[in-house]
Amino acid sequence: MEILPPSFHRRVRYDRVYVAGSPNGRGLFTSVALGGNRAVGRVHGQKKPSGWRSEYCMEFADGAIEPDPPYRFINHSCDPNCILIEWELSRGDETQGEGGTNEPIYEMWLHTLRPVKKGEELTIDYGWEAEASIRCNCRSPKCRGWICRIDDLPRCLEMHKNDTPGGR
Ligand SMILES: [Zn+2]
Repeated sequence: MEILPPSFHRRVRYDRVYVAGSPNGRGLFTSVALGGNRAVGRVHGQKKPSGWRSEYCMEFADGAIEPDPPYRFINHSCDPNCILIEWELSRGDETQGEGGTNEPIYEMWLHTLRPVKKGEELTIDYGWEAEASIRCNCRSPKCRGWICRIDDLPRCLEMHKNDTPGGR
């Protein structure tokens, strides 16, 4: 599927999302119906060095980002309706003549993967490695049982084969 850059969606109003209770603590919801392959909003946050670890941290550009609300509350699903895309945007002509550099600007955007109904929770696949995996409670029929990258799942299951049910 081709995902169009944020500039394509500039005329769209963003941030029609809200935070509310979900089966997994707080979650991110949409207050309007959204089409598939649409920009939902830009994820702002504090830049952190590579390898930074925290509950909400995401890999970003050459380091990490500690996302601000509301996007920090997006939950994992094994069958997500959204994806985070990191765009490398050229500065174009805007900064030329004012000492601008040609270094790209990085922006993180949330995009829909498929149409989403009003009031539906927005989710992404966290895609964690087996070492970081925890039990999944996404309630999707496609749930893998663990929050883990799909191609790392065999290693994840091997690592957890002696876990007691319900534990981590
Ligand atoms: Zn799941």
